[in-house]
Amino acid sequence: MEQTPHERKRALCQNCLRVRFFDSYDEATMATCDICDGDMCACDNCQEAIERLERGERDFESLTRPILGWSAEDGITETGNPQRRH
Ligand SMILES: [Zn+2]
Ligand SMILES: [Zn+2]
Repeated sequence: MEQTPHERKRALCQNCLRVRFFDSYDEATMATCDICDGDMCACDNCQEAIERLERGERDFESLTRPILGWSAEDGITETGNPQRRH
């Protein structure tokens, strides 16, 4: 029978907003993103942010910048206000 693995913890990359699964909260908060090297965080705010992103919200107060596109696997796919790198 199918059961959601609720003991697995989701964490949000604070930089690119990718979502990754971890076995525990501690493991999640010590991890870094394998794409952008940003900090992963699994706090309640980030759980809520993940849920809002999944619901299709793209602009809310805990986001550091507006985004246009997002997916759990790739994080931000389009930014509303692209960072200038140089
Ligand atoms: Zn990242
Ligand atoms: Zn957090």
